[in-house]
Amino acid sequence: MTNRRIFMMTLVAGGSALGTASAVAQAKLDPNSPQAKSLGYVDDTAKADAKKFPKHEASQHCANCQLYSGKAGAADGPCSLFPGKLVASNGWCSAWVKKA
Ligand code: SF4
Repeated sequence: MTNRRIFMMTLVAGGSALGTASAVAQAKLDPNSPQAKSLGYVDDTAKADAKKFPKHEASQHCANCQLYSGKAGAADGPCSLFPGKLVASNGWCSAWVKKA
């Protein structure tokens, strides 16, 4: 399944998915896991690979990504791309999409 497709499904799912995700105790996403690595996930946006991802900007991070559903000010929160895991609010991956 492509990232774009997942993103579109997330938009369709809307607020109901956000409510259920935050109610479940979750583990932090390991940046070294194969799934995280495949998207270039880092737990600090400043560590993003600039050569591999030239479009990355320092202002981009999970907390202002469309796929992030953590509470404002929280250190981490759920991301619909990584079900069952928490991503760092200051993290980043190559699927980052500006929050609407
Ligand atoms: S940048 Fe967005 S898609 Fe990537 S891990 Fe963070 S919240 Fe998820």
